[in-house]
Amino acid sequence: MKKLFAIVLSAALLLGTAVAVFAACGNDSSEYLTVATNAYFPPFEYYEGNAFTGVDIEIADKMAQNMGKKLYVKDMEFDSIIQSVKSGESDIGMAGITVNDERKIQVDFTDEYYESAQVIIVKSDDTTFDACTTADEIETILKAQDNNYKIGTQNGTTGYMYSYGDAGFGYDGFTNLTTNGYTTGALAVQDLANGRINAVIIDKQPALMIAESISGVKVIEDVELTSEAYAFCVAKGNTELLEKANAFLKELKDNGDLDKIINSFFDGTADYTYTNPAR
Ligand code: GLN
Repeated sequence: MKKLFAIVLSAALLLGTAVAVFAACGNDSSEYLTVATNAYFPPFEYYEGNAFTGVDIEIADKMAQNMGKKLYVKDMEFDSIIQSVKSGESDIGMAGITVNDERKIQVDFTDEYYESAQVIIVKSDDTTFDACTTADEIETILKAQDNNYKIGTQNGTTGYMYSYGDAGFGYDGFTNLTTNGYTTGALAVQDLANGRINAVIIDKQPALMIAESISGVKVIEDVELTSEAYAFCVAKGNTELLEKANAFLKELKDNGDLDKIINSFFDGTADYTYTNPAR
């Protein structure tokens, strides 16, 4: 009898543990909005000391609060973000992500919140593109280079697709030259400054901010090589989160807060950082 009781008790304990673990998981996913990002993309997401900051982080924080949740930022390489969202490891991707048909096969996108473009960065004393006023003129010069000419881009980004070529993105690429992939845009610009590569192709606003922090390079900022728009992404079919995110985005657009957040990070007046809660 005693033995049977002990077995029943331990089974109950086991079950209890299982229920507790299950409940903890349940709480976890309802208590936090987990955001997949790559925090090396100023002014949209970057570190200030050990804290996160940037346009997307502030929007994410406000969005989480709006949903009655706490923000939990997951910093990862850019080309892991879509997989993290797809697998449910993160709820939403917020990383200056360009909306694109190829990506739409994998995830669902919210409404767009920012228009962007790729630009080229070269060494300050490089006059190759100084006279260019159109993307065509820059592309003609790039097509005339050989494979000793190296362009640095961030892995998995539009800049990489544009330079290397990607049928799904609709870019022929420059097969005559060499495209190098880096884990962050800043590492590519550092290699440019050190003379290891000839140019970097990256999103315009990050280009301007990264170039400001690394001396010896300049952005050909008046010539936009692509025309893109950013949105957030959720797992395919997660209409509940998609609708909530869209409703919140609309509110931010309508009340002017979206513009205020973007402007504050562009002009350097932003006073905002975020540290993940312990969990
Ligand atoms: N907008 C680019 C893309 O979606 C780059 C984004 C990034 O590096 N965070 O590919």
